[in-house]
Amino acid sequence: MGDLCSLSISISISTFLILLLVFPVLSTQQQPEEEDNPVINRFQTYLRFKTAHPNPNYTVPVSFLISQARSIGLHTRTLEFVPGKPVLIVTWPGSRPDLPSILFNSHLDSVPAEPDKWIHPPFSGVRTADGRIYGRGAQDDKCIGMQYLEAIRNLRELWGYKEPTRTVHLSYVPEEEIGGLDGAAKFVASKEFEELNVGFVMDEGQASPNDDFRVFYADRSPWHVTIKATGVPGHGCRMFDDSAMENLMISIELITQFRDSQFNLVKRGLAAHSQVISVNPVFFDAGILTSNGFAMNMQPSEASAGFDIRLPPTVDPELIRNRIAHEWAPASRNMTFQYQLLVALVIKTKLLSCCTEASILLLKGKELTVIMLMCSCQHVLLPGKEELVTLELKFLENYLQSLSLRFLIRTSAPTL
Ligand SMILES: [Zn+2]
Repeated sequence: MGDLCSLSISISISTFLILLLVFPVLSTQQQPEEEDNPVINRFQTYLRFKTAHPNPNYTVPVSFLISQARSIGLHTRTLEFVPGKPVLIVTWPGSRPDLPSILFNSHLDSVPAEPDKWIHPPFSGVRTADGRIYGRGAQDDKCIGMQYLEAIRNLRELWGYKEPTRTVHLSYVPEEEIGGLDGAAKFVASKEFEELNVGFVMDEGQASPNDDFRVFYADRSPWHVTIKATGVPGHGCRMFDDSAMENLMISIELITQFRDSQFNLVKRGLAAHSQVISVNPVFFDAGILTSNGFAMNMQPSEASAGFDIRLPPTVDPELIRNRIAHEWAPASRNMTFQYQLLVALVIKTKLLSCCTEASILLLKGKELTVIMLMCSCQHVLLPGKEELVTLELKFLENYLQSLSLRFLIRTSAPTL
């Protein structure tokens, strides 16, 4: 999940039930005991592939997904816009290929894990007696990628639903966790994507700790900002003005004050996390290295710090740009800065959900490209140092089935 979305509404269980009533698709069969549950087993297999950055293995999980897709009669196609970074497209052809298609997206990669901080190894896919499944990527977002396939499997094998009206595509893309530039961005810009004639996209969302499925229609823009101070080096025994460290420390103090002002809005209940500008330091780099640490009697001539900043769509980016230029890294204090805007957000339709890749898809600017959201997984624990899901997968599976049927059944273009 590149970023969590800023505005949300809830689809409650009652809404979910209404969906089921409106589209009275059959109840799912009782799942077998957990020990023998092939759905869970397949999910665990997917979790065991080491797809974490900085060296995600894409080859083996893509082969696994292809085999799963083919086992339920779906077509597969692998695109490789950047060597070693495949985009897998799984297709369920519809009876009306002239209609815009439906695309369900998920990403193959995961954020890094620190194995010594986990109760269970992050790529073991361990399921505990109380039904928890541990794994890096369990929430974000291998559960989604697998549920797409399991939902279609159920539609075809349990419900006898052989052919949708609209063609359905599943996309499994690489590199989402590092911005998607070599994954979704290239995919969306390709003629292959154009040929899919996508009219509706569903992407990952935010994990939910209860039975609410939240639909997001806006996203925050992530900025990666590095500020750098330079100054006259000097001996550690003497105080003087305009050292690099002093300049950087002044900036850090100002940035901390700004961060507090934003965070306090959240702490006082005046704003949600997604509605404020979040500023988090991610590195400090300074000091003169020696063979056994740092020179403790030298003031260095350079010092820098990095920040992960997230802007809600309601904030004018120029404001933060000016703040950086004039307050956090002003030339008057011998400072420079650089930033990387990972994804620019464009809101074009009424009901949109965006995470990183949804934003990329939005940039495509197609009128019919409507992004909606499913939550990561029901009954999840929000990400801490570990990542896990519980076995309440059936609920989300039902949700997905009902929601997908809603669009599969319609013969006119979605009007979200
Ligand atoms: Zn994700």
